[in-house]
Amino acid sequence: MPSRKFADGEVVMGRWPGSVLYYEVQVTSYDDVAHLYTVKYKDGTELALKESDIRSQSSFKHRKSQSSSSSPSRRSSSRSRSRSRSPGRPAKGRRRSASQSREHKDDKKKTVQETSLALPVLVLFKPSENNTKRYNGEPESTEKNATSCIILEQKLKPDLEIKRVLEQYSLRSRKDDKKKEEIYSEKKTFVAVKPVEKVPAKTKELEFGGRIGTFMLILLLPATVFYLLLMCKQDDPSLLNFPPLPALESLWEGRVFGIFLLWFFLQAVLSLLPIGKVVEGLPLSSGRKLQYRINGLYAFILTAAAIGVLLYFQFELHYLYYHFMQFAVSAAAFSLALSIYLYVRSLKAPEEELAPGGNSGYFIYDFFTGHELNPRIGSFDLKYFCELRPGLIGWVVINLAMLLAEMKIHNLSVPSLSMILVNSFQLLYVVDALWNEEAILTTMDITHDGFGFMLAFGDLVWVPFVYSLQAYYLVGHPTTITWPVAAAITVLNCIGYYIFRSANSQKNNFRRNPADPKLANLKFIPTATGKGLLVTGWWGFVRHPNYLGDIIMALAWSLPCGFNHILPYFYVIYFICLLVHREARDEHHCKQKYGLAWERYCQRVPYRIFPYIY
Ligand code: NDP
Repeated sequence: MPSRKFADGEVVMGRWPGSVLYYEVQVTSYDDVAHLYTVKYKDGTELALKESDIRSQSSFKHRKSQSSSSSPSRRSSSRSRSRSRSPGRPAKGRRRSASQSREHKDDKKKTVQETSLALPVLVLFKPSENNTKRYNGEPESTEKNATSCIILEQKLKPDLEIKRVLEQYSLRSRKDDKKKEEIYSEKKTFVAVKPVEKVPAKTKELEFGGRIGTFMLILLLPATVFYLLLMCKQDDPSLLNFPPLPALESLWEGRVFGIFLLWFFLQAVLSLLPIGKVVEGLPLSSGRKLQYRINGLYAFILTAAAIGVLLYFQFELHYLYYHFMQFAVSAAAFSLALSIYLYVRSLKAPEEELAPGGNSGYFIYDFFTGHELNPRIGSFDLKYFCELRPGLIGWVVINLAMLLAEMKIHNLSVPSLSMILVNSFQLLYVVDALWNEEAILTTMDITHDGFGFMLAFGDLVWVPFVYSLQAYYLVGHPTTITWPVAAAITVLNCIGYYIFRSANSQKNNFRRNPADPKLANLKFIPTATGKGLLVTGWWGFVRHPNYLGDIIMALAWSLPCGFNHILPYFYVIYFICLLVHREARDEHHCKQKYGLAWERYCQRVPYRIFPYIY
């Protein structure tokens, strides 16, 4: 069997990533190791494609006879279309090829029926408007202010969106607005006659060890939480000192479950309050943008005020400490019920609303990774809510309860220095997340992962009950640290926080507005999707600087617990594993999304998380 099917220079049909569309491309090279072909589209875009994404031209004979356009920017279908009216038309002044001119003349004669809506992928060329400098992989002196390529996934965009795109890029359909109006009316006719076909996109590459791996994780994650909490309760929480199993009936108390439900629904009500701005998330694959109300910080302040009032009236918050395991069991039961609900409702969700990574068709896998991307009840976004509210704010409340329990049990007038550090560092982390709530909209959890057991359990059980392990540990295992040690740990936490925050803000600002003057000194590699990849600043230091900062902070949270036991270091050890795995997942997605541009980025920024180490 030949090792490669297509030769260099051969003109073939290449699938456009993320779509089912094939365009004429020329093979420029082949990577024997990665088994990837580098192909060049007619508009100059270069991408790395798998052999399975390439077809010979002969298999497209029928279609080609109806359409001669073969560039993503100038896609045509079996219906005739006035190319001059397409927003995908190259900007004025761009040279046309002879064949393009011929096509143009032919088109003039045809009846206009199809519009931009028929373009699942629309490529717009415009002079780079970014303040941010474009990095082309060459030495700085050779940089050119070339055009940047903006690709908008378009399946069925509302009129306004089309209008916005046209206005944003100053694209005129032909000569005047009258013609533009015609386009809109033609578009409506087209939509009415032929709705865009939905093509189910199945998840082929399974993560987390596939079906067996996800099944094991569904069992292992709750088991780990209970093991850690049982260990923490022991006087000697050494690894080899396995804790005795508690009686089953001691794990459940109706009152505790009631308090948990009250907490969850109180947070839900706070999230629905009409305070705080409403922002749009990143475009979905359909081009639609969901709206999110940003009021996490208000919810936090109101919760803090309510807790203050309860404490004033002598409410015993340390009740949480004495019933910690029961609270964890309640949260786990709730998250399981929620995951079942999410899976059942996802079965009725339209195909385009399913998560790119959770649509394998295997029940256990989709149940774990999350089948639906953004499950909503009306405007209430379940995933977005769970990511930042009940678990994250709950974590701070648990820490406070541990602080009060420590003072009560050890008869202290002020909490220990270790407890103060752990509480303060983690409070900073949570407040930061709520303060920068908008930034979560560009994270993998929101844009890629569905909402299933993984995130439901992670948000509602893992975060509040495992991340508070240091505070829980300190109640039963008092640890004394000196002021200089406390100062050194604080400096470490501040360094981690600084890296974490500035890296996240840099990427978030760049994604939201690449032309932001604050980012003027940064360079980026343009990609075929229109998004750039930063190669200077934090993202030129390592490929995941935000993970580096997060890990440094995780270490600073464990150090106040001393070195008697490894248990309080569980968080930092687990977190390194989590972020290394997450980084690998993200790299894989980015390679698929950005192809050669990602490879260039990796060459330019060789280290993933730890400079000179990994
Ligand atoms: P990131 O915020 O790191 O986002 C990764 C995405 O950033 C990529 O998919 C890509 O998306 C974009 N990107 C990658 N490289 C570049 C570049 N050079 N220039 C511009 N954009 C780039 O992902 P996470 O969601 O994993 O993490 C968000 C934060 O949450 C991190 O700080 C992490 O530490 C933290 N976190 C905390 C956890 C916890 O339990 N405490 C758990 C997980 C994460 P695209 O190009 O599509 O925009």
